[in-house]
Amino acid sequence: MSTQKRILIMNRGEIAARIAKACRELGHVAVGVWTDNEVQAKHLEVCDEWVHLKGSTNQETYLNIPKILEMCKEYKIDGVHPGYGFLSENTEFSQTLVQNGITWIGPHPEAVRVMGDKAVSKEFAKKNGIPVVPGSTGAVPTIEEAIKIAREIKYPILLKAVAGGGGRGMRVCHNEQDVRNNFEAVQRESAAAFKCGDLLVEKYIVNPHHIEVQILADKKGNVFHFFERECSIQRRHQKIVEEAPSPFIGDDEELRQRVCTTAVRLAKAINYDSAGTVELVMGENKEFYFLEMNTRIQVEHPITEEITGIDLIVCMIQSAFGDDLKIPNQEWIKRTGHAIECRICAEDPITMLPAPGTVTGCETNFPQGIRFDNCLYKGLQVTPDFDPMVGKLVAKGIIREVAIRKMRAALDGLLIEGLKTNVPLHKVIMNEETFVKGLYSTAYIGTIRPQDKVELEMDFTSIYKKIAGVEARRMGL
Ligand code: ADP
Ligand code: ADP
Ligand code: MG
Repeated sequence: MSTQKRILIMNRGEIAARIAKACRELGHVAVGVWTDNEVQAKHLEVCDEWVHLKGSTNQETYLNIPKILEMCKEYKIDGVHPGYGFLSENTEFSQTLVQNGITWIGPHPEAVRVMGDKAVSKEFAKKNGIPVVPGSTGAVPTIEEAIKIAREIKYPILLKAVAGGGGRGMRVCHNEQDVRNNFEAVQRESAAAFKCGDLLVEKYIVNPHHIEVQILADKKGNVFHFFERECSIQRRHQKIVEEAPSPFIGDDEELRQRVCTTAVRLAKAINYDSAGTVELVMGENKEFYFLEMNTRIQVEHPITEEITGIDLIVCMIQSAFGDDLKIPNQEWIKRTGHAIECRICAEDPITMLPAPGTVTGCETNFPQGIRFDNCLYKGLQVTPDFDPMVGKLVAKGIIREVAIRKMRAALDGLLIEGLKTNVPLHKVIMNEETFVKGLYSTAYIGTIRPQDKVELEMDFTSIYKKIAGVEARRMGL
């Protein structure tokens, strides 16, 4: 057990609050940050200390390595937790901290580097005998080269930015003309968003499943997996609903075992030493391929915590300081029940596009056992500067059916006033036959036609009725 540490939480929103809670449990000092634009950040309420990260743009604040380093020195910080997004997968940031004797709460910088580039990581995986999606391993410099590879692997193919993330920098091409039309555009977009225009050409797996494996490792060479999650409900290649275990893998324990041990094999090959996730794409025939490794905690980590009972962020902090994880062996890690997460985003439930706004009220009336990791408060302004996710609703049940039932009730009991959210879309999904049967792939979202089902008007009326009910209760009426 290490002594008390001062931990800087270099993030905002729900994940900052989540990390602060883990610090508190461990007896460490949680140091939170606020910027000129977010003086009233709710995560600070669960931090022990808060410091002003001067500036208003992300470049001036959350992405400003020299300024963060200065802050670490001034406030005698022992370790930095980066959360997800921002600098969480930035090699330079992790290296800078390590070189300055500050603990980086993440894997060693070389793992961040290798896994941070989709071309480099794919090559690394292939070398280590991990199946990778057919296509180029290195970056493809020209349209002609891309077309040549596409002819070999056959269409449809995907043009994918090697530095991409959050589902951005990807386009499906069905023929040569598509490649000609899209190649330079993806290069340009990727150069603008990720400062690197390099592209991969990959076979586009049709109706695939996004399956990922949670990894946790310590600094002594122990690497464990915490089973899989299925994240195939996506819009714009980004997840909105996740569940564990995967309904597609179902009772196929042999397949589950192969998937999980493949992930452990990759993590061991890079001497992984923190929490991380190996993402795989699985075809209709259950063949699976390595997609990427996220060398950080992921948005959807709560569902794994719910089915295994392990606090992944606590373990991640313990691992970073060289503490023992007290996990005797892989077999010791068990799972029970089923967990589902709905990402609650400030977005239009029909177009699924971000809908900035200001929260004027929030009420929750949940069934037993609901977890709601969020950063909501009255007055919260959702701006285009940050990801529109404002909370994560997590339901656990002894079986999948119960988890879905609880999630439906939780969605009904979640009232966010003043903001357009995707709650009505989640309600559609949780009641839709294909989802309920667990038969969906990543093509799912394109098939449900929310415009036919989202009863927006009714939703708002019922919200007002419910808010009136809550207020009446409060006043003892
Ligand atoms: P996952 O972690 O499940 O792989 P994402 O790629 O969606 O899924 O998660 C990281 C994304 O979260 C980033 O790309 C970014 O858009 C978003 N993000 C980063 N920081 C924050 C934050 N503090 N609050 C909310 N969202 C954030
Ligand atoms: P990101 O860094 O943006 O998360 P990923 O490589 O993890 O990028 O891909 C994001 C999503 O795009 C995946 O979850 C999957 O749904 C889809 N995808 C990526 N590669 C392929 C592929 N080769 N075939 C089919 N779908 C893919
Ligand atoms: Mg991914």
